[in-house]
Order: sequence, then structure tokens, then C-alpha cells
Amino acid sequence: MSNRISRRVDGVPPSGIRKFFDIAATMDDVISLGIGEPDFVTPDVILQAGIASLNRGETRYTSNSGILELRQAIAAKWAALYGVSYDPEDEILVTVGGSEALYLALTAILDPGDEVIIPEPCFVSYEAEVTFAGGTPVPIATDVGTTFQVTGAQIEAAVTPRTRVILISYPNNPTGAVLDRERMLEIAAVAERRDLLVISDEIYDRLVYAAPHTTFSSLPGMRDRTLIVGGFSKDYAMTGWRLGFVLAPPDILAGMRKIHQYTIMSAPTTAQVAAITALTDPRAEEAVLAMRDSYNARRRLLVDGLNSIGMPAFEPRGAFYAFPDIRVSGMTSEQFAWTLIEEERVAAVPGPAFGLGGEGYVRMCYATAKDKIEEALERMQHFVRRHG
Ligand code: PMP
Repeated sequence: MSNRISRRVDGVPPSGIRKFFDIAATMDDVISLGIGEPDFVTPDVILQAGIASLNRGETRYTSNSGILELRQAIAAKWAALYGVSYDPEDEILVTVGGSEALYLALTAILDPGDEVIIPEPCFVSYEAEVTFAGGTPVPIATDVGTTFQVTGAQIEAAVTPRTRVILISYPNNPTGAVLDRERMLEIAAVAERRDLLVISDEIYDRLVYAAPHTTFSSLPGMRDRTLIVGGFSKDYAMTGWRLGFVLAPPDILAGMRKIHQYTIMSAPTTAQVAAITALTDPRAEEAVLAMRDSYNARRRLLVDGLNSIGMPAFEPRGAFYAFPDIRVSGMTSEQFAWTLIEEERVAAVPGPAFGLGGEGYVRMCYATAKDKIEEALERMQHFVRRHG
């Protein structure tokens, strides 16, 4: 508590994930399934493009919206992969990670008290970002019964006259759920009927294992009410470069660009140059597919392993997380995670850190070495035998 910061900011609790990173870092021999980021170094061809840019002395700001060639490459990617065209001039903005894109979107759209419907469990930042932007988060719980896909009826039930936005994120962090087309159409119908905007965080768009990704703006009638958040952190293993983008209708994009101009100026120049290579060099594409195959193999290892040791795990179809049910232990998610790290030195994040619907689960990231996953499964098997 501090009386020198706003109530709005003071009231937001610190991220439940940080605590676990900090504890895990002080212990020896911990296998961390806690951190949600790729274990790969950025593919070499992308890395070299960044280094070459620095060596050429490209150390200045770029245009506020981002290097035009990069915006063109983003437009070409979205059109080629998902069949939706965006104008690089006034419908694409390059941001400091998907994180900045989300922040800009909410700040540009919301007036005080406007409501944002957030299906949970979800990325830890959403509720906080809505609050920082002056809005009111309206979380709704998804569950394993609907394979963690929010339904149109659930959203409809949460709509009030103050609702402005539905904020969805599939492939989902922490569950690995993806949305079936049928569900997407239900959400689109509610958006249309209730005149709502949809922010669709598609940061894991390339990391899907069962069916091709569908971008929300490709649904009939949705392009003009959808903002797509995208990025390079996950698909290209570029978390530390801090680069993302947003695709949005021109009026909303103009609002976002205004905030970006005044608060950020431009996204990191080196990262932007490297990202052009990420999107255009065939070797980068090969690397993305190879990383995806590698995650997929580890997904099978972890999910099958969890199921076989008595921790039922829902089948994740995207991203790089498993979300096992830990209720067999008789513990809460928080107790489970603390006891697991104390007794077996395996770090996982308690489900409630990701909001409603998370109790009874923990998140495990499988973007970690295969032998570590095997060892973690062995340790967890002992744990479940002892506590099951
Ligand atoms: N959205 C989701 C769903 C995420 O999981 C993350 C990162 N954990 C982000 C956005 C933020 O990513 P970035 O590094 O691009 O800011």
C-alpha cells in the first residue's frame, strides 16, 4: 500500500507468476516448467540480421508506425497465411511486444467504467491492463467441459450496456486451448448483435498442432470490429527483442498510434530489422516449423506422461503449455505448487494465477529440454504416489 500512487494502480495485485520464478531461482536442482517462453535462442538467420543492422550503424528511431518494409512483410504474412489483407499505411502498427499492443488497444478504446469481457484462465496481464486503462474487467470462467473454449452463450450472459470489448486469446496461455470455428462464429454473432469490439490476442498463431490457425478477423463481418494482437516473441523465439504488432481498423489504429507516438516513439530498431528477415527469409520459416515440431514432440511427452501418472491433462492444441488437473492430490493449486517445488524441486504455476477457472490446475510449460521433462515426470510420479 502506498498513498503516493493512484488507487487504480495500487489496487492491482502483483503477478502470481513472478513469485514462483523468484523462489525457483534461489533453489538448487529445480526443473522449471514455470516460465512461459521458448527455450530456443532466436534462429541464427534472424540473429545475424539484427547484428548486421547494428554493425551498419542503424541505431536511430524508426518511423512511429514501424519500418514500412516490416509493416509490408506483416501484411503479406497475414494475407498469405490467413487470407485477410491489412493496409501497411494505416492498419498496422509495430509495437514493443504484443504487450504494448494490448496496452495501446485498451487505452485507445476504453472510457472510465467501460467493461471488457475476459474469458479466463488467461494471460496474467489482461485484467491489470484493463484496470490501468480505466476500464472494468469482467472475467468469466471457462472449464474443461468445453475444452476451455468460451461459448457465445457465456459471453452473451456477461454483456451489459457498459460492455465495449471481448478480449480473447487462442491458442491460449495457460490452457493450450484453441477455438473451434463453431465457437468463433458464436462469439462473432454476439459481437455483432451487441455492437462490441473484439481484441484477439493471436501471439501463438504459428504454434498450433492439430488444425490450422484461423484469425478472428477472417470471420464474416468481423474485420471492422476486430483488433489482432500479434508478435515475434513466441513463434520466432524472440521474447527479449520486444517486438509485436497490431492489426486494426484505421480509426482505432490512429488512436493507438497517437498513444504510441507520445509514450514509446518507435519499437526497437534492431528488432524491427531482424523481424523483416524473420518474415521474409525462407530459413527463418524453416526454423519456425522445426521449433514447432520440437514443441509438438515435447507436448506429447508431457501430456501423455501426466495422464499416465494420474494427473489428468486436457489435450492442448496450441502454444506450449499443459494444464493438468491436480485435484487427485487433495491440495489447492497453490499448496500443490509449493509442495511440489519443496519436495521434488519441480516448478509449475498455480492455475489461479491465470484467473477464474484456474483452481484445481497448474500450468506447466513444455518449452524445456526433453530430458528435463522426463525427469520432471519421474519426480511428479513420486509426488502423486505420496499424495494421491
Ligand atoms: N499474450 C499472451 C497470451 C502471452 O502469453 C504473452 C507472453 N507471455 C504476451 C501476450 C506478451 O508477449 P510479448 O512478449 O509479445 O509482449
